[in-house]
Amino acid sequence: MTAGFDDVRGHTWWCAAHQKKSYATRKTARRAIRILCESRMRAYRCTVLPERWHIGHSPPVLLRGERTANEIYGEKVTYG
Ligand SMILES: [Zn+2]
Repeated sequence: MTAGFDDVRGHTWWCAAHQKKSYATRKTARRAIRILCESRMRAYRCTVLPERWHIGHSPPVLLRGERTANEIYGEKVTYG
Protein backbone atom coordinates (compact mmCIF):
# COMPACT_ATOMS: atom_id res chain seq x y z
CA MET A 1 0.00 0.00 0.00
CA THR A 2 1.31 3.39 -0.93
CA ALA A 3 0.41 6.46 1.05
CA GLY A 4 -2.51 8.35 -0.41
CA PHE A 5 -5.31 10.63 0.55
CA ASP A 6 -6.98 7.76 2.40
CA ASP A 7 -4.05 7.92 4.76
CA VAL A 8 -4.89 11.43 5.93
CA ARG A 9 -8.63 11.50 5.30
CA GLY A 10 -9.51 10.24 8.77
CA HIS A 11 -7.54 13.05 10.33
CA THR A 12 -8.99 16.05 8.58
CA TRP A 13 -11.81 18.46 9.32
CA TRP A 14 -13.50 21.17 7.29
CA CYS A 15 -12.64 24.59 8.67
CA ALA A 16 -15.70 26.78 8.12
CA ALA A 17 -13.86 29.94 9.10
CA HIS A 18 -11.23 29.57 6.39
CA GLN A 19 -13.30 27.48 3.95
CA LYS A 20 -10.60 24.84 3.64
CA LYS A 21 -9.47 21.50 4.99
CA SER A 22 -7.69 21.38 8.32
CA TYR A 23 -5.41 18.68 9.68
CA ALA A 24 -5.01 17.25 13.18
CA THR A 25 -1.26 17.65 13.37
CA ARG A 26 1.55 19.43 11.61
CA LYS A 27 2.86 15.99 10.64
CA THR A 28 -0.41 15.09 8.93
CA ALA A 29 -0.50 18.44 7.13
CA ARG A 30 3.06 18.01 5.91
CA ARG A 31 2.25 14.48 4.75
CA ALA A 32 -0.61 15.90 2.67
CA ILE A 33 1.83 18.39 1.13
CA ARG A 34 4.14 15.50 0.21
CA ILE A 35 1.26 13.59 -1.38
CA LEU A 36 0.44 16.65 -3.45
CA CYS A 37 4.11 17.00 -4.40
CA GLU A 38 3.85 20.69 -3.62
CA SER A 39 7.18 21.48 -2.03
CA ARG A 40 6.38 25.19 -2.02
CA MET A 41 3.32 24.65 0.17
CA ARG A 42 3.66 25.02 3.90
CA ALA A 43 1.82 23.89 7.00
CA TYR A 44 0.52 26.63 9.26
CA ARG A 45 -1.65 26.73 12.34
CA CYS A 46 -5.34 27.57 11.98
CA THR A 47 -5.88 30.88 13.75
CA VAL A 48 -9.43 29.97 14.79
CA LEU A 49 -8.71 26.44 16.07
CA PRO A 50 -5.03 26.52 17.09
CA GLU A 51 -4.85 22.73 17.46
CA ARG A 52 -5.61 22.35 13.74
CA TRP A 53 -3.32 22.87 10.78
CA HIS A 54 -3.84 24.13 7.25
CA ILE A 55 -1.66 23.84 4.19
CA GLY A 56 -1.19 26.58 1.64
CA HIS A 57 1.16 28.15 -0.83
CA SER A 58 3.79 30.45 0.51
CA PRO A 59 3.26 34.02 -0.65
CA PRO A 60 6.26 35.46 -2.53
CA VAL A 61 6.91 38.05 0.18
CA LEU A 62 7.15 35.22 2.71
CA LEU A 63 9.58 33.25 0.54
CA ARG A 64 11.75 36.35 0.23
CA GLY A 65 11.73 36.74 4.01
CA GLU A 66 10.28 40.24 3.86
CA ARG A 67 7.36 39.42 6.11
CA THR A 68 6.51 36.74 8.67
CA ALA A 69 3.71 34.22 8.26
CA ASN A 70 1.91 35.71 11.25
CA GLU A 71 1.84 39.14 9.63
CA ILE A 72 0.36 37.73 6.45
CA TYR A 73 -2.09 35.15 7.73
CA GLY A 74 -3.05 37.12 10.81
CA GLU A 75 -4.54 39.80 8.58
CA LYS A 76 -6.42 37.32 6.45
CA VAL A 77 -8.55 35.81 9.20
CA THR A 78 -12.26 36.09 8.56
CA TYR A 79 -15.10 34.78 10.65
CA GLY A 80 -17.74 35.06 7.98
ZN1 LIG B 1 -8.92 27.54 9.81
